Amino acid sequence: MNLEQELSRILRGGYKKDEPMSLHTSWRVGGPADYYLYPADREELKEIVRLQRRAGLPLFVLGNGTNLLVRDGGIRGLVVHIGEPFNYIRREGVMLRAGAGTPLTLLAQRAAEEGLRGLGFAAGIPGSLGGALVMNAGAFGGYIGPLVAEVVIISPEGEEVRLAPEDIVFGYRQSNLSGRGIIVEALLKLKEGDAEALKEEVACYQAERRRRHPTQPSAGSVFRNPPGNPAGRLVEAAGGKGLSIGAARVSEKHANFIVNMGGASARDIEALIELVRQRVKEKFGVELETEVRIVGEER
Ligand SMILES: Cc1cc2nc3c(=O)[nH]c(=O)nc-3n(C[C@H](O)[C@H](O)[C@H](O)COP(=O)(O)OP(=O)(O)OC[C@H]3O[C@@H](n4cnc5c(N)ncnc54)[C@H](O)[C@@H]3O)c2cc1C
Repeated sequence: MNLEQELSRILRGGYKKDEPMSLHTSWRVGGPADYYLYPADREELKEIVRLQRRAGLPLFVLGNGTNLLVRDGGIRGLVVHIGEPFNYIRREGVMLRAGAGTPLTLLAQRAAEEGLRGLGFAAGIPGSLGGALVMNAGAFGGYIGPLVAEVVIISPEGEEVRLAPEDIVFGYRQSNLSGRGIIVEALLKLKEGDAEALKEEVACYQAERRRRHPTQPSAGSVFRNPPGNPAGRLVEAAGGKGLSIGAARVSEKHANFIVNMGGASARDIEALIELVRQRVKEKFGVELETEVRIVGEER
């Protein structure tokens, strides 16, 4: 069987060939994925991982694509989308067990409705639970890492593995879950709270985001905050606001956001990232590091 016959055999949800990644990233940029896969469950994921090993193909895992700059040449090999089939939430006492494809906002809303406290900060972060765990997503002083009671992955050998909190190290916008396999599920430990107050908290955080964030396509904060100084403040003080290359522009509303004004290429965005870094380096001697992940090939 050739690769395409194998993929058709494994995937009930199918796959697409040469699928533009711009359709799957919040920045709306990115060239084609050779094979874009829609796995329906864990068994299919295990088979995909085994096939990938046999065929010696690269494999990239995609959540909601909200922290990614995919270059214009796209991604070689397989892109595995952890989407709808992995979107579920179940209550277990004061914990929630959820699939890696569950949108964070949905999780925060459900926790509030259940009267479970701890996930309010996640309301409005546009990623999936899987992406949030890899990135240790956080906001308003809260992070996903400390809530984790268990993470279930499909290992690079194609086995289902349950990771305990002591197996996982979370840092500022990073974790050692990166590259360890495909996250399929997590159990989050919360605390009892008052549902009405928690629902109000969720609404407040969402309103705060609408107030602070630009509306054009972006990937959220581009740069990590260096110790003691928010990156956005440094960019603004270096005269970065409004800088643009092609249709990529540093947002006037939030200097740590680069927005796609319509038709930007990944190359525009990457060049603008470099320009902003240079400006901040010249003015303050600080080397900004990206929080967004840059993947794929140049055209
Ligand atoms: C408007 C806006 C606001 C934002 N605000 C915040 C914020 O307040 N705080 C914050 O932390 N982030 C924020 N972000 C960034 C982003 O939403 C988070 O980093 C989010 O957690 C990424 O999740 P994702 O599903 O989109 O991941 P993706 O962008 O799809 O992937 C990110 C990384 O995780 C890996 N990955 C994804 N899913 C899996 C999986 N199931 N198994 C293994 N690896 C996986 C990918 O390979 C990639 O390396 C914002 C983004 C936008 C566009």
